[in-house]
Amino acid sequence: MQVKAPRGTADILPGNTAKWQKIERIIKEHLESFAYQEVRTPVFEHTELFQHGVGQGTDIVSKEMYTFNDRSKRSLTLRPEGTASCARAIIEHSIYGGVLPVKWYYTGPMFRYDRPQAGRYRQFHQVGVEAFGSNSPYLDAETIILMVEILSALGLTAYELHLNSVGCPVCRQSYRQSLIEHISPVKDSLCPDCQLRFQQNPLRVLDCKVAACHEAIVGYPVIHDSLCVECREHYAIVRTALTDSNVDYIHDDQLVRGLDYYTNTAFEIHIPGIGAQSAVGGGGRYNGLVQALGGPYLPGIGFALGMERLLLALDTLGLGESEAPGVDVFIALMNDRFETQALKILNKIRKAGIRADKDYTGRSGKAQMKYADRLGAKLVILIGDEEIEQGFYTLRNMQTKEQLQLDNEQLVDSIKQIMAN
Ligand SMILES: [Zn+2]
Ligand SMILES: [Zn+2]
Repeated sequence: MQVKAPRGTADILPGNTAKWQKIERIIKEHLESFAYQEVRTPVFEHTELFQHGVGQGTDIVSKEMYTFNDRSKRSLTLRPEGTASCARAIIEHSIYGGVLPVKWYYTGPMFRYDRPQAGRYRQFHQVGVEAFGSNSPYLDAETIILMVEILSALGLTAYELHLNSVGCPVCRQSYRQSLIEHISPVKDSLCPDCQLRFQQNPLRVLDCKVAACHEAIVGYPVIHDSLCVECREHYAIVRTALTDSNVDYIHDDQLVRGLDYYTNTAFEIHIPGIGAQSAVGGGGRYNGLVQALGGPYLPGIGFALGMERLLLALDTLGLGESEAPGVDVFIALMNDRFETQALKILNKIRKAGIRADKDYTGRSGKAQMKYADRLGAKLVILIGDEEIEQGFYTLRNMQTKEQLQLDNEQLVDSIKQIMAN
């Protein structure tokens, strides 16, 4: 038996969970202040949800999914992303018939079979938002502002926000045509994947990571020149709203999402200087998604942030420190006859909301004081013969070394008073 977690997965040990919790707390506060509510969907779904909702022919669906048959021979897939599940839930529970827009957020593990490297895991974690039921460009701006606000609150102020519009099915039709005309003469020099993409959906050739493909299509027409009047206006409003909100962005013609249900605004956020996996998040509008999954027309926009990427960025930039929570109070026994008494006090002070602990390995008095220090205890309650005989507790301040003698009644209040100072 191999005593090792599977490749591409990682344990997050208590020293690190403190960092995760801090980031999660900051993110959650922001999401809620932007009126998002949490949704929790299953970690696995019917495989066809992702085939339709992420798209056949995408790398995710064709190469990276964890797909398996369960014991009833149903094809199931561990979710590779969160948006498709949200859209499925919107349809399944007829949320589209209620008060709109709905603003949902989710957080949790996602799964993709990809080559692991720094910042890239096979089980990774995302926090994402989805707002369904409005096509307002101001909602696009708000969504981007939310993402930027989260990064700033984490200390990641040196970000690069890339922005583009991928238009709508109407304007994409003419763009597709001009792209075909441009790529056609060089299509034989494309990688095998791109040859197929060129047949199925030429926009996806722009997504290719192979450098030779980029060189072959250099000078390709940009989608911005093909936008219809409505899409052009939508994009202009988003840009103005961002500028008015002091959000810097880079218009990026190369930011193209090849799937048909993606519409209008697309964005990606990078933290320069953290290595190859510099994109910490991205998103966009997907007005065609709910319909593509069998629901009614329901516009939507969202983004996802990669937790591991955020942590990588914070660590690389030296912003990742967070103290693991310790205890406030430690109870030191000078004799194991006082165990019962110690448990009683622990119960009492824990009920008062004070973080407390004691030794359970029979350490000597001196070793217990060392242990209390390691746990970060600010106060130690000493219980020895004298204390038991005379009915008081000795409360020792670990910083000032000051000692107080307190009776049972005074104990909790005194601890709280000292802790508050
Ligand atoms: Zn359009
Ligand atoms: Zn290619």
